[in-house]
Amino acid sequence: MTLKYPLSALLISSALLVGCSPGSPDAPEDTVTPEAPAAPAEPAEPQADTDNAVDALEEAGAGRLEAHEHGHANLVAAMDGDMLTVTFESPLMSVIGFEHEPETEKQVAAMEALQDSLSETANFVTLNSQAGCLPSQTETATRMTGDHGELRVEHVFQCSSPERLKQVDLVMLAQYPDIKTVDAVFVSDTQQAAAELTGATTALNID
Ligand SMILES: [Zn+2]
Repeated sequence: MTLKYPLSALLISSALLVGCSPGSPDAPEDTVTPEAPAAPAEPAEPQADTDNAVDALEEAGAGRLEAHEHGHANLVAAMDGDMLTVTFESPLMSVIGFEHEPETEKQVAAMEALQDSLSETANFVTLNSQAGCLPSQTETATRMTGDHGELRVEHVFQCSSPERLKQVDLVMLAQYPDIKTVDAVFVSDTQQAAAELTGATTALNID
């Protein structure tokens, strides 16, 4: 399977289309955000290469990727050949306590510290060493949409033994207690795994 576009980019773009509509009230933390209505028709893009992977993710229980729910985040780890892309997305509220462009000096500093910290792979995620995955690229970004904001962190690895990847540990969870649950999914050509991570259980295990 060759992904024409990064899988995560596809998922995130659909999340931004249907989530976070301006003016919609925040969902209470203890309720599940109802299914958002279908997004308006998107411009047709050649997505044939990614359809199978997206189907696999949906089968793996990632159906809530579209929701913006404070306290709830998403993790997607996708192995394409020897390249592993780990993408994390969370409401900004749950990692920094506000969802607007930083205004005060304190907010500016907090935003910089957040991005600096999560740009360090060791602060973000650890992988079992047998897979021989070395970080090759990282990107940390925020995006404001209406009354809400998202943090997106992506780290890309090159793995010498991709078939030996057995664990993706989202170690950052220990630092952000306002993130209560994370829907985590792993997908490769031959395997998939899914789990709900919490501060007490931060690792996604791959059988
Ligand atoms: Zn929000």
